[in-house]
Formats: sequence, structure tokens, C-alpha cells
Amino acid sequence: MVFRKMAEELGKENLFRIESAATSSEEIGNDIYPPMKTALQKRGYPCYAHAARQTVRGDYDRWDYLIGMDDENIRSMRRIYGADPEGKISMLMDWAGEPGEEIDDPWYTRDFAGALAQIEAGCSGLMKACMSRQKAFAGKRITAVPRPYADLHCDTLYTAWRTGAADIFQMDGAMADVSKIVQGGCRLQLYAIFMPSPEEKREFVHPYPGDDAYIDALHDIFMHTVQQHQDVFAAAKNMQEVECNAAAGKVSGMLSMEDGRAVAGSFEKIRHFHDMGIRVMGLTWNHANCFGYPNSQDRKEMQKGLTAFGKEAISCMEETGMLIDVSHLSDGGFWDVARLCRRPFIASHSNCRALNPHPRSMTDEMIRALASGGGIMGLNFCPIFLSRNLKQRKSSIDDLARQLRHRIRVGGLECAAVGTDFDGIGGELEIPSADRMPDFFEALEQRGFSSYELEHICWLNTERVFRDVIG
Ligand SMILES: [Zn+2]
Repeated sequence: MVFRKMAEELGKENLFRIESAATSSEEIGNDIYPPMKTALQKRGYPCYAHAARQTVRGDYDRWDYLIGMDDENIRSMRRIYGADPEGKISMLMDWAGEPGEEIDDPWYTRDFAGALAQIEAGCSGLMKACMSRQKAFAGKRITAVPRPYADLHCDTLYTAWRTGAADIFQMDGAMADVSKIVQGGCRLQLYAIFMPSPEEKREFVHPYPGDDAYIDALHDIFMHTVQQHQDVFAAAKNMQEVECNAAAGKVSGMLSMEDGRAVAGSFEKIRHFHDMGIRVMGLTWNHANCFGYPNSQDRKEMQKGLTAFGKEAISCMEETGMLIDVSHLSDGGFWDVARLCRRPFIASHSNCRALNPHPRSMTDEMIRALASGGGIMGLNFCPIFLSRNLKQRKSSIDDLARQLRHRIRVGGLECAAVGTDFDGIGGELEIPSADRMPDFFEALEQRGFSSYELEHICWLNTERVFRDVIG
């Protein structure tokens, strides 16, 4: 309870984390305290540390610190610990010995895993990264506290299938595999079942088995990952499950579909995909299908609306609890969705056309329509969707911040969310993978985004819409 109470009392914004590969208290003393003290003193805070050694997995050692940083925190700590916070805290550090080591002090629970679980429950997101099995943070560095966030889109499952990987826990060169989203402090990652086009099918390690078998295969990869790594990762089909998972220190993965062609004009199929756990449906990708037409440079194509089935399907999806995703859809299709939807809909990974002339991006009118229905649009990190230069190869934090700022100015704070498109994009990315998301959020803070805004962008807006539509 001590851990949990302390995390609650200190408040997340007063905590940050220092990580190190140090394995002895001597190394801690030499390695960690100097940079920690410097960092704290720079901010004008006294230095009190709270430490726990992560030895639960047995395959690596690392120390994690929660640090309380101002007088109010110190008073809180006194309330929790009694008169001598420093004494207790240093004892706690001593306690972080070998697993199972006997320590002769009744104050300790000796239940190390239990204590970690309490930290997570009190301050989930902050400590989730500890549970990663990787020695990903070998060497020391000071990081921002991971901020719980939702990412509305990535193509990691498709990358796994395309390259023959059995699961998505850890993949060479992947941007949003589970180990990376855990490190980044993610709370909910949408894993898309992306439907490949004929050109792409040629690159696969195995022949394309047809849409239905392919969807099953990606679903299997997802579920296999959940089974193999249930200590850190869990599937979620609604927001209640996301919350339970977070309280247990687990990141949630939820399935979405990018291109509804496999629905093949059947309401039954929509319900079938819902039964599989798919909760977000991108109506089209870049080809026409039973729902409608894709975004296009061709004006006539772009003005085409939903098909008769697409229009009818809207209410079926809303009744089923399948969130409608308009990223990639034609402008005509967008306006049909906006007119017909009674619930909020989303653009999972779309940017603003006022800053980026690509037809994938949304005009200000579209942003206002989406926002007025309570919807959200996820910030896409792909270089070609960021600026006026459609051939841009670089995705900079400055451009990303401008894109975010614009949608907030036009649609209001409530419409802004994150949809990285990781593992579906290339180029030179300043934030190249999910484990770097804490750096991204900190950079946004430095560029003037308030804590209140970031909470909405990272989590609250997505939570609101998903709870409303999916349950
Ligand atoms: Zn896409």
C-alpha cells in the first residue's frame, strides 16, 4: 500500500524516472545519484529518492526510481512514512536485494512482485516500462515520465505477417512492437489488420491465402502475442477491459481493420469481425470497395460518396459497436458518413489539408464536421502528410506540433488524438518508434502544449469516444 499511496500523493507530474543497468548499490551510488541530483537541483528541488529493483523476470536487472520533488511531496512522504522519510527510503533501497532474500524488518512486505503491482496500480504508465523483458535501457539515461497514451493506428501486425514473424512482441526494425509500446508508456494500441493490395501481395514470404484466411492469420498472430506475453500485454474489446489491464500493469492491444473490402457487402460479416474482437473499421484503403471510394487526386473520384451498402452499413456498425474510421476515404464518402452517423466517428491516422495538400488529409470543414459529432483524428507521423512538400522525407517534431495545433484551432481540443501509422510509414522520423513517445510528449510540452491539452490528446479524447461507441 505504501507504494500506491505514495504514487497517488506525489502525483504523476512530480515524478520522473531514471533508468540504469546498474546491478549493485555501489554502482547506484556512483552512476545514478550524481545525474539524478543534478537533474533535480536544476529544477530547484530537494532530492529524495524511492527505488525498487526489478528482478521479477530474473533475466535482467535494473533499478527504477520514483522521485518526489518539492516540499509538498516531502510533507506527503512524511505523512506516509512517519517522521523520517529518508531513513525509510534508504531502507527500501536496501530491501531491493536478491529475490527471496531475508530482511529482518517488519515494515517490509517481502512481496516484491506485489509491491511492484502496487506501484503500477497507483501510477500505471510510470512503471509499466519496468515490466518489459528487454534490456532496452542498458546504460543510464534520464527520461520523461511515460505519459499514458492511445495510438489509433499502426501496421505492425501486417509487417509481422509479411515477414513471417510468429508474434509482435519483438521484431527487428519494428516501430510499434509490444516491447516498444510498453517502454513508451502506451495504454491502448490499435493494431490494424491492413488488407494488402495486389501489388503488395508479390512481396510476401508466403502466398496470399485470400482475405478471410489472411484476416484469421493476423488475428492468430495478435492472440499468440497476448498468450505469450500476458504479463505485460492483453487484448481489449472495450474500455472497461483497457482499464482493468492498465490497473494490472498491462498495455492493451485492440484490433482494427484497414479497408473493409472483406466485409463484401454483408452485415453478417461486420458482426463476424466484431465477434473476432475488431472494434474499428477503416471503410476503405486506397481502392474502391463495397463501402465506397478512396481519397484521390482525381476530382471526380474524390467526390464519389458511399455505395448504397456503405450508407446502410453505417447504422449496422453503430448498433454493433464498430467504430467507423474515415482515414483514406474519399471526400464524398466522408460527407456521407458525417451526414449519416449518429455516433462519433474517427479518422484514425489523418492530418490537416490546410497544412498538407495530400488528398488523404482533411479540410478544415471536414475537421469541424468530425469534431462537432464528437469524433477524433489521430496525428499521422508520415513525412508526406505533414507539410506543403508532398515529397518530404523527414518527419520533425515541429511539423507534428503544427499539425496538432491546427486541428485544435479548427476543431477544438476534444478532436485531437494520436494515430502514428508506425510500421506503415518510412522516411527520417524524429520520433522513429513507440518507445520514444515520452520524448515526443515532452517536446510538445516544451513547445507550449499544456498538461491539460496533452492529457486530452494522449488519452482522454480517445477514451471518451471509445467508451461512447465501443463500450
Ligand atoms: Zn493507412
